[in-house]
Amino acid sequence: MSRLSIKKRVTTFYAAVMLLFMIIVMSVFLVTLDLQITHVSQNALEKSVKNAFDYIAMPGDWLEISNDFDFYVNDVSLLVYGQEGTKMMGHAPQGFPEEIALQSDTHREYSSENENWQVYDLYTEYPNGTGVWVRGIYSLSNSKQTLRNVLVLMLLTLPLLVAITLAVGYVVTKRAFAPVRKIQQTAEYIMRKKDLSSRIGLEGNANDELYSLASTYDKLLEKIEDAFENEKQFTSDVSHELRTPVSVIISQAEYGLTQDDPVTMRESLDSILRQSEHMSRLITQLLELSRTGNALRSLNYEKFNLAELCEMVTDELQEQADSKGIQLISKLDRSIEIEADQTQLMRALINLVSNSISYGRDNGFVMVDLHRDGKNNDRINISVSDDGIGIAPEHLDKIFNRFYQADQARSKAKSSNTGLGLTMVKQIVEAHGGSISVQSTTGVGSTFTIVLPLTAEPEAKFSSI
Ligand code: ADP
Repeated sequence: MSRLSIKKRVTTFYAAVMLLFMIIVMSVFLVTLDLQITHVSQNALEKSVKNAFDYIAMPGDWLEISNDFDFYVNDVSLLVYGQEGTKMMGHAPQGFPEEIALQSDTHREYSSENENWQVYDLYTEYPNGTGVWVRGIYSLSNSKQTLRNVLVLMLLTLPLLVAITLAVGYVVTKRAFAPVRKIQQTAEYIMRKKDLSSRIGLEGNANDELYSLASTYDKLLEKIEDAFENEKQFTSDVSHELRTPVSVIISQAEYGLTQDDPVTMRESLDSILRQSEHMSRLITQLLELSRTGNALRSLNYEKFNLAELCEMVTDELQEQADSKGIQLISKLDRSIEIEADQTQLMRALINLVSNSISYGRDNGFVMVDLHRDGKNNDRINISVSDDGIGIAPEHLDKIFNRFYQADQARSKAKSSNTGLGLTMVKQIVEAHGGSISVQSTTGVGSTFTIVLPLTAEPEAKFSSI
């Protein structure tokens, strides 16, 4: 059975259930019909026997039977017997066992080889003490024949009904399972052509289980395609980012080797060192980004005071700020307790504050502001502002992209800048179910704002299990 396709299994099951149902219905019908026939014939028999006494009288010592007395009425044969059981009038139907004893007011059934009868006897005693029996015999052959005909008809139509059930069942299940074929074809096509852009694209009722399965698969394919494209883009971005320092290193090394002047050679070595440091930083950041990606898949949620975390961040970066004479200002709501991954949030904040210091004005300020969200009580805002160089409007929507640097000259000048920091911050914030935005004016300063839910969203918690 399990070797059959689901379509055939469903059809067979459906047909078997229908067959069973039909057999039960037919059996109930036949039994009811049989009972009904017996009931009707017993009524007719009893009525005929009782009516017969209307035509029998006992005016003296003798019995008088009216000329109108009919010995065969409504398919019932009537026989009259004396008190001792001696037959006086009437004929039993052919083949009826006459020796059957009289028994007043009891319905009985007798059968011979090829006949069935119903028998009903009634005894009445007249005032002179003499009694009379009337026996009614009803032949059941007609009724039994009707019953047999119905049974034969049913047995003949049963296979036809089963065939129709099987055919209809097969067509219905075939139609119902058509989407499965479509899903399979799409999967085969994707495997054969290695084309992840293909979709099942089933149209239909959203309540249909197969339709929703197909649309879930489509969404899954979309995610896989995105991830695949991302990987491709990532590899190409990384190669591109590494190619520049590597070519500078090669050309500087080649140039240095052709020079005898130690000063020029030193300059080349300096340049090689800077590029190597940049590459090393780039590789470290890439590793960190990949580790963050892995860590974000299993966030370690815990409850902690967010103001304390912000203070740890500013303490950590105090020295960097001092080196530029930048004042670190904190405006913190100390009552905020958040459920989040402390290590990851700290990395995100360190990145933001560190950027603000890097791109901040000498002797300027960097402010960390933590407060509850004005609109949603279950969210908090952390903003990091500076009065630094700002970001031109055309770069604002791109700075969260991998390797993107708004001010290439300035960013690249520092070997520590890689254009990966904000990408990581965004990943961390979004993994917590939050969002990040930026407002900036060139030459005036920038404000990065993170909005986070106070408690872990069930989905995020679930994915961290
Ligand atoms: P980077 O390593 O270059 O700092 P990030 O991803 O951290 O990489 O930032 C991307 C770009 O966004 C930076 O190169 C810089 O141009 C811009 N940027 C980020 N933070 C600031 C800021 N506070 N002020 C001005 N520009 C900023």
